[in-house]
Amino acid sequence: MASALGPATKSALISKLAAIVGEAHVASDAAGLAVYEFDASDEAIAGHHLPLVAVLPGSAEEVVQVVNLALAHDLPVVARGAGTGLAGGAIAARGGILIVMTRMTRIHEINEIDRYAVVEPGIVNLDLSNTLLQQGYFFAPDPASQRVCTLGGNIANNSGGPHCLKYGVTSNHILGLEVVLPSGELTWVGGPSGETSGYDLTGAIVGSEGTLGIVTKAMVRLTRKPEAVAVLLAAFPSMDAASRAVSAIVAAGVLPASLEMMDALTISAVEAAFHCGYPTDAAAVLLVELDGLAETVAEHGEIVARKCREHEATMVRHATTKAEQDLLWLGRKSAFGTLGRLAPNYYLQDTVVPRTKLPPALEFVGQLGREFRLEIANVFHAGDGNLHPLMLFDRRERGAIQRVLEAGDALLEYCIAAGGAVSGEHGIGMEKKDALSLCFTTDDLRAMAGLKRSFDPRELFNPEKIFPSGFSCGEVNQLKQQSLMRDGMYVV
Ligand SMILES: Cc1cc2nc3c(=O)[nH]c(=O)nc-3n(C[C@H](O)[C@H](O)[C@H](O)COP(=O)(O)OP(=O)(O)OC[C@H]3O[C@@H](n4cnc5c(N)ncnc54)[C@H](O)[C@@H]3O)c2cc1C
Repeated sequence: MASALGPATKSALISKLAAIVGEAHVASDAAGLAVYEFDASDEAIAGHHLPLVAVLPGSAEEVVQVVNLALAHDLPVVARGAGTGLAGGAIAARGGILIVMTRMTRIHEINEIDRYAVVEPGIVNLDLSNTLLQQGYFFAPDPASQRVCTLGGNIANNSGGPHCLKYGVTSNHILGLEVVLPSGELTWVGGPSGETSGYDLTGAIVGSEGTLGIVTKAMVRLTRKPEAVAVLLAAFPSMDAASRAVSAIVAAGVLPASLEMMDALTISAVEAAFHCGYPTDAAAVLLVELDGLAETVAEHGEIVARKCREHEATMVRHATTKAEQDLLWLGRKSAFGTLGRLAPNYYLQDTVVPRTKLPPALEFVGQLGREFRLEIANVFHAGDGNLHPLMLFDRRERGAIQRVLEAGDALLEYCIAAGGAVSGEHGIGMEKKDALSLCFTTDDLRAMAGLKRSFDPRELFNPEKIFPSGFSCGEVNQLKQQSLMRDGMYVV
């Protein structure tokens, strides 16, 4: 357990932190810390938690010194990027020192021959891609939050995004990492070849949500900008028809760069905000992006259009200009925010099912809406089977939060029983930690705790995350076994 500091010790600690990172880069009063109390998750999930102090280091060496100071005071350490995480991962649940990485945005190297770049973790995802584009490359993982979220957050959450259908999630694009370990040491794991002898420590750290180390540099894979890009919008009379079109497109041997679905509620909110040209009389639209060689893109565009029409599409439109493509994407990538027009609050459940199980899963979402008296908007990475129902509510309404959380839990259990997983891409954080035991046995969790302990025996790095409540990594309690996994099922 972390120690509580007396006022004199706290004041001395703040002075030492200011000496490391500069006075302007330390926040310790209520006003300065307020911005770090939340991330983008609903407060019903993660609550409010103020760190003791927040610091914004400018280099890996400064992160090392801050971590060593935290160790000396037995204080928890939590890394934070832009705070767009939706699972409470960047919240200082047990106080301590919050290390905000957003000043560390340098690109140290772009190596076109070996196809990698060495980058600091505070860089915003889209800024990285836009810089690489000048040399004909991009960074493929593109969370819908890419205009603000940082590379460090992407790595820690192993984030996905619309283009991850074709290109794979963040773990497929990280070759190596410079990390400050919970021992206070700075080290590199992985390297330019992407192959490691012995344990794959890069693989262990990607997706570990800041519990195994703080990333201070990443060696990222460069993906070549495709010769041609086509964007199609197809309208459907039902979610069911759109879901069947998704499976038909993939079964026809076409792997789009992205295959996104939005339902009528989302379309109405997006259109009112951005006028993207989505048909407001459709029950669902598919936004399909194809990329590659020009001839293949043209051929695949015809196949996609045909498959959509075979599955009741009432309209298929090819964006003819880059501006039109960008406008169609603007609606999708800004969709979550536009739902604020429909209700003051939403709870986004992030889960996944095998693609072929999308039609019954979406039917189940509709059923939950009726049962729990909730309006639910759906906007999601359909090609990956990654559902994102946004349950709209007004927290001022008595019992509303409870209904939303119960509906979210019911959906999670449904998806896991259908062969899916606890999280499609947003991570476990505080939100899903208790749900982990739906997927893993106590023995599984004990094995994971062993890994955590070998990195962080004092459990000071991002405590209260990932592992279920009452499950201490040091002394493993028996959890009530409630795994919904059936024999032969895999956890993804
Ligand atoms: C509108 C919206 C759309 C979104 N769309 C997507 C989407 O399409 N796909 C998707 O996967 N997610 C999506 N997200 C979720 C979120 O944006 C991603 O998880 C993102 O990668 C978080 O980045 P961040 O910089 O905000 O990280 P934060 O929220 O600040 O932190 C997230 C986690 O990373 C850890 N962390 C941060 N930096 C470091 C570091 N340097 N070293 C070690 N650990 C670190 C934190 O401790 C925390 O556990 C969306 C969120 C919003 C609000």
